[in-house]
Amino acid sequence: MVFTRCYIGLGSNLQNPEAQIDQALNALALVPDSRLTAVSSLYRSAPLGPSDQPDYLNAVAMFDTRLAALALLDALQAIEQQQGRVRERHWGPRTIDLDLLLYGAEQIDLPRLQVPHPQMLLRSFVLVPLVELAPELRLPDGSGLQQALLDGDRTGLVKLRPLRLS
Ligand code: AMP
Repeated sequence: MVFTRCYIGLGSNLQNPEAQIDQALNALALVPDSRLTAVSSLYRSAPLGPSDQPDYLNAVAMFDTRLAALALLDALQAIEQQQGRVRERHWGPRTIDLDLLLYGAEQIDLPRLQVPHPQMLLRSFVLVPLVELAPELRLPDGSGLQQALLDGDRTGLVKLRPLRLS
């Protein structure tokens, strides 16, 4: 099976978010049949939803895999579990959140998995690092990201520093 190019959104706002993002990148690099190919800069964003929680750190990874989409979702959820993610309230704080943004040019609509990630165009903390990594990227419907980027509200989003793959 050939590699499928994917994009994964990472977010954390608890228990040393910088270390959580680093740890998740290290774990992604170890996922079988896959290659962690590139990663965006690290960004800080104001929380969505309840505002009585710390700011988030966010990044997007480019990830090539031979895994099927659901097997990749399993791997992402296993990393979330390893890092002690506890699901408390919707949009509440979390140690690590991994979202499968794009899986090649596939459109997937299963109870467990919707790809492209339904909110990705509405969230500047996803869109801005994604465009940084892949400015020419096309969505499965053929549209680009530039218009969504222009339409988006970047209030509260700050680019912090480059991230390195170890
Ligand atoms: P969240 O609280 O945002 O991390 O949502 C997690 C839930 O979203 C899990 O139950 C997943 O099965 C589901 N889900 C649906 N589509 C996706 C996706 N593209 N990436 C990650 N989780 C997804």
